[in-house]
Amino acid sequence: MAIKKALGIDIGGTKILYSVLDANGNILSEIKKRPTPKSAEEIISVLKSIIEEYYDEIDVIGLSSAGAVNLENTMVLSSTPNLPKGYNSIDFSMLSDKKVFVENDANCAVWAEYKSGAAKGYNTVLMATIGTGIGGGLVYNGQLFRGSTGNALEVGSMKIFADKRQKCTCGRYDCWESYASGTGLKNCAKIGALSYPEFKTSMLKDKKPEEITTYDITDGVEKGDAFCQKTFEQWQEYMFVGLVSLTDIFNPDCIVISGGMCEFVDIENLQTKINNESVVTSVTVKLAQTKNNAGMIGAGLLALQ
Ligand SMILES: [Zn+2]
Repeated sequence: MAIKKALGIDIGGTKILYSVLDANGNILSEIKKRPTPKSAEEIISVLKSIIEEYYDEIDVIGLSSAGAVNLENTMVLSSTPNLPKGYNSIDFSMLSDKKVFVENDANCAVWAEYKSGAAKGYNTVLMATIGTGIGGGLVYNGQLFRGSTGNALEVGSMKIFADKRQKCTCGRYDCWESYASGTGLKNCAKIGALSYPEFKTSMLKDKKPEEITTYDITDGVEKGDAFCQKTFEQWQEYMFVGLVSLTDIFNPDCIVISGGMCEFVDIENLQTKINNESVVTSVTVKLAQTKNNAGMIGAGLLALQ
């Protein structure tokens, strides 16, 4: 029997990334990119032309997208502001006579890490993707955990305080992602600039607190700036607080974290702290390996399931 192949396509807010994959997550063709069109109709026609390009060599098509995906894995019911109007009425199964499977990007990412990345060989894998917000995914006993409507693991929306300290971009207060994401790091810097004495001698001292970027902080951490280090410590503490709760709830044997700023996180220390505080058995913490290809690889692999 011929080896089954999938076309993995990652529909991002600015670009569409795609390539052909095998069932082990090996990338078999050049990874190509196209800009994400501004209308739903154009997205459909771009996806059709990508599928057409590889039609003869593939068995299935897997799509990764932001937003909540229906239980049938055919539609994205609520999308993000980055994707155009009408996107949530696209029936992706109509794109081809071959199987087309769509899944949420964070779910695709955890599946990619579980099957071919940092969490290969583990059984219950929790992933947190630290970007502007925080996305989450869980593989439970070798299966993707989707919840009753496919929206499980919205970990970024987990509340961590009850006394309305900080407004989140979603309009509510004190979501974990308003403290432990990229936006969260900026919030930590803004608050720290007003309260840490180290700010007065920091390389960032002439910046307005609200104008400090995540790059400013990680750059300062690398250069040994005391204010940036203290701010980054505080941010890591928020990351730890969320991850230890999630560890107690799901009892994973592996936690994978991803996102640009995670390169600076002290993974070993994070793992030690989680294991010291968690009430469940020990967990291994790792950095993601599939990175920018996570959505594309995970979508392709899920479509082959
Ligand atoms: Zn929120």
